[in-house]
Amino acid sequence: MTSTLASALTPAPRFPPRARPLRCRSCGADRAAAPVAICGQCLGPLDPVYDPARALPDRATIAARAPSLWRYREWLPFEGDIVHSLDTGFTPLLETPRLARRLGVARAWVKNDTVSHPSLSFKDRVVAAALNAAAAFGLETVGCASTGNLANAVAAHAARAGLEAWIFVPHELETGKVVATSVYRPHLVRVRGTYDDVNRLCAQVADRFGWGIVNVNLRSYYGEGSKTQAFEIAEQLGWRLPTAVVAPMAGGSLVTKLHKGFGEFREAGLVAGEHPRLYGAQAEGCAPIVRLVERGDDRIVPEIPKTIALSIAIGNPADGVYAARAIRTTGGWAQAVTDAELVAGIRVLAEDAGVFAETAGGVTIAAALALARGGRLRPEDEVVLCITGHGLKTIEAVSGVLPEGPTIAPKLREVAALVEASGAR
Ligand SMILES: *Cc1c(COP(=O)(O)O)cnc(C)c1O
Ligand SMILES: [Zn+2]
Repeated sequence: MTSTLASALTPAPRFPPRARPLRCRSCGADRAAAPVAICGQCLGPLDPVYDPARALPDRATIAARAPSLWRYREWLPFEGDIVHSLDTGFTPLLETPRLARRLGVARAWVKNDTVSHPSLSFKDRVVAAALNAAAAFGLETVGCASTGNLANAVAAHAARAGLEAWIFVPHELETGKVVATSVYRPHLVRVRGTYDDVNRLCAQVADRFGWGIVNVNLRSYYGEGSKTQAFEIAEQLGWRLPTAVVAPMAGGSLVTKLHKGFGEFREAGLVAGEHPRLYGAQAEGCAPIVRLVERGDDRIVPEIPKTIALSIAIGNPADGVYAARAIRTTGGWAQAVTDAELVAGIRVLAEDAGVFAETAGGVTIAAALALARGGRLRPEDEVVLCITGHGLKTIEAVSGVLPEGPTIAPKLREVAALVEASGAR
């Protein structure tokens, strides 16, 4: 082996990135970068602060970069080299003409995070950001309070990064979500209670042990990962904006950050035109953000979740107020759907687009159909549907309602009988 080749194969040493400083979204107080959950002055949420004078890339520069969410690194809260989860992001945007026809809109696309790398949900985006924040702060143990997908993502990303992971979930969770977490051998702890109980416990855990709980004391950095879904949609549409986006809501972070992401790309001059109308979707059995949008006031009324859409069953959503504001200021709306409607939504998406989504995806499709029936989606609309997690994680939702298919002897005449009975020839 020549010395040139040897040096090409030896990775350059990587130093952890530096995290951007923080500012309170509520009172504007500034503070240094740190693993902290809330503002010390007013308990408001903290956001990373970017240097307004930093150099921003143009379309061609971004397009020439590797197909991961780090191609938008100037809008992510780190400086220096990224050390973890380098290959997450840039999932497909699929045009779905049959779904467009069913919705009665001009065009429709699925933003397909069911195939997100490595854990098959959009939570890979936020965990990619959070683990680099953990690296910036020198934290060797990470964790989360999760409704399932975040557990999968933290366990997978931490395994690859060589970090210890402590994962807390409500005791009632789909088998797929539990198995797709425990296979990575994190410390998986089931808590008797709802997600909101788990979340409260994790706030205490973060304080007591000084770990990086991705959606608690690393939340400011974590949330920024969600913006990359907006960036990708704009780029994949050919540097254009859709007129409407429908997305599921749990804590309300994704919708809040879609608003921020589209806004940042408009501000940077990378896309022109109006901000897409944002539509948020929840299950009837846990719809505190939908109810807030409907009431039009500014306070979440917490709910006790009762739905099969467990991944988005958060009764007291941390970013609910901000999601509702994003929805209102863009001229969108929020829609709740029943469990039966979400199951039908999963089937529609599979049959029309060839995409198998988990329950949250069914909520998005069912909500889009309801919004179209109610006249909120219009014939001239170009709609993006955010499909955030894979159907194999929640097979319980549909396995009981699908036709099983006949079992036959390996005989051609038995097939012929089936073909005849089916009416085909
Ligand atoms: C977490 C999650 C969401 C939305 O989460 P927010 O807390 O609102 O950002 C949507 N879909 C799936 C599948 C999720 O796991
Ligand atoms: Zn504050």
